[in-house]
Amino acid sequence: MNAEIDSILQRAADGGRITPEEALLLYTDAPFHGLGEAADAVRRRRYPDGIVTYLIDRNINYTNVCVTACKFCAFYRAPKHQEGWSHPMEEILHRCGEALDLGATQVMLQGGHHPDYGVEYYETLFSSVKQAYPQLVIHSIGPSEILHMAKVSGVSIEDAILRIKAAGLDSIAGAGAEMLPDRPRKAIAPLKESGARWLEVMATAHRNGLSSTATMMMGTGETNAERIEHIRMIRDVQDLAVANGYADSAVEAADGPGGFRSFIPWTYQPENNHLKGRTQATRIEYLRFVAVSRLFFDNVAHLQSSWLTTGKDVGQLSLHMGVDDLGSIMLEENVISSAGARHRSNLMELISMIRTAGRTPAQRDTLYRHLTVHENPADDPTDERVASHFSSTAMPGGGRKNLPLVEAS
Ligand code: SF4
Repeated sequence: MNAEIDSILQRAADGGRITPEEALLLYTDAPFHGLGEAADAVRRRRYPDGIVTYLIDRNINYTNVCVTACKFCAFYRAPKHQEGWSHPMEEILHRCGEALDLGATQVMLQGGHHPDYGVEYYETLFSSVKQAYPQLVIHSIGPSEILHMAKVSGVSIEDAILRIKAAGLDSIAGAGAEMLPDRPRKAIAPLKESGARWLEVMATAHRNGLSSTATMMMGTGETNAERIEHIRMIRDVQDLAVANGYADSAVEAADGPGGFRSFIPWTYQPENNHLKGRTQATRIEYLRFVAVSRLFFDNVAHLQSSWLTTGKDVGQLSLHMGVDDLGSIMLEENVISSAGARHRSNLMELISMIRTAGRTPAQRDTLYRHLTVHENPADDPTDERVASHFSSTAMPGGGRKNLPLVEAS
């Protein structure tokens, strides 16, 4: 192995910080197995119990109407488009109730930037869900929605955050990060806020007691250096959260790690959108990036891979590249599915993926606290209803007249 790469890998595996330049070198030049071993060493030191977590939640979309027209998005419809829709509150609550019946602990309420939806809409949405189902954690929306609602209502970002937090929002999703550096972001989402602004909203939320996740969408034509720049921008903001006492990067705090709790890279899906035909990230690129992320983020507690976009085999392999969490079963997901993500799973399969990778599966809550550790296969859950579904507007033959849980074919 190249002596310089060897030395960086060793330092990172031992818990030392690596620079963005070193991360780029590892990403492009480190041997695949060496990279994975170093990332796995970090994972083992953080989580010596060998537990890999998963979550049961449902992504519920309140509207597909959006004024932001991101080029990679297959989910949205422009205002007045005949396929635009918004769910009434009863439908949203009905879906929350179904999710709870199936063992969900969290809902992710996600939707477009509807021109009429200001802070008041989200206050009603979150308070209605909390009132009906106080046991459900609301991990929802992202900085883009917060900026949009603040603009519609004419209030500051901080006011919008405080009001939706008071209404019941428990955690902010890492949605809308896409690519944070300016060049690739403008190319795929010219009307979206800048990456710096996205991070500013997250920092404001962290300061006001709302922790979040962070994501990245790979594969729309960004360079390797821009991928590393994306995680550099997030790490810098997390450094601030740690320095100011909003986040505990080292261990699980009693109320969960603050700031960015986890990093979740996923791959762009190329169907039904204006970027159709762009190169996607390969599986190897994805796995290498997952490993580099584990080595680079010495201040973010968890690393989640995206089996939904990369497939279950890659999801399982990622557990050997530093990943400690497989995310959600996603009782319902429509946004990424609209762009072509076809992978589906269920509770038993997800548990099996973790166990056959040599790890101990555990259901977690939003803050990564273990709810059930599946030590003994004989005690594994057997509820076949706990499975992924989609009911997309953009899928061939899809329609939204009736939106029951539609089993994927
Ligand atoms: S990704 Fe979000 S903001 Fe962009 S067009 Fe789709 S729904 Fe709108």
